Amino acid sequence: MNLAPYIKCPNCSSLLQLSEEEQLQRTFICPICTEKTVISNSDANLRNIGSYLNESDYFITKYQDNEIRVVFDARKEIIVLYNDEIVAEKSITTSILGDWYEVDFSIKEHGRIVPYSVRIDIIRGRAYSMHCSIYRKKKRIYLSESKSSKMNGYIIGGLCLFILIVYLLTR
Ligand SMILES: [Zn+2]
Repeated sequence: MNLAPYIKCPNCSSLLQLSEEEQLQRTFICPICTEKTVISNSDANLRNIGSYLNESDYFITKYQDNEIRVVFDARKEIIVLYNDEIVAEKSITTSILGDWYEVDFSIKEHGRIVPYSVRIDIIRGRAYSMHCSIYRKKKRIYLSESKSSKMNGYIIGGLCLFILIVYLLTR
């Protein structure tokens, strides 16, 4: 599989546009830091964007044979890819208690401009969760909870159980 036309340099995280040759060879040299990167994994384009992120996640959905991917980088930005092309990018700042972000963009489908928007909702604290919704013409076409927010729930649940067992054993 070819690389996506846009990719982030794993070394300096500059956003790069790759030539067809580079996409095909899965090899590119970053013009910013001059580091050479060879990507062997077929799904590497997405991981590459998300790999150095913390508390970040990505969401993938299909709508009428078009693939929409949302990459959420908690400390920097939201990137939306439509059939592997970046269609929206928005920088963000996070707050401690929780927040939501919205990114609007439009896509030309069958000659018509269609408005889309992506919304990320985050609740922090004990009940940490992250949800991603995608709207097309103001109608929701996708809603999903982040894998990392579910994981957080398991960890907190496990910890509570552990404390309870220790408490019962030491009574
Ligand atoms: Zn670079």
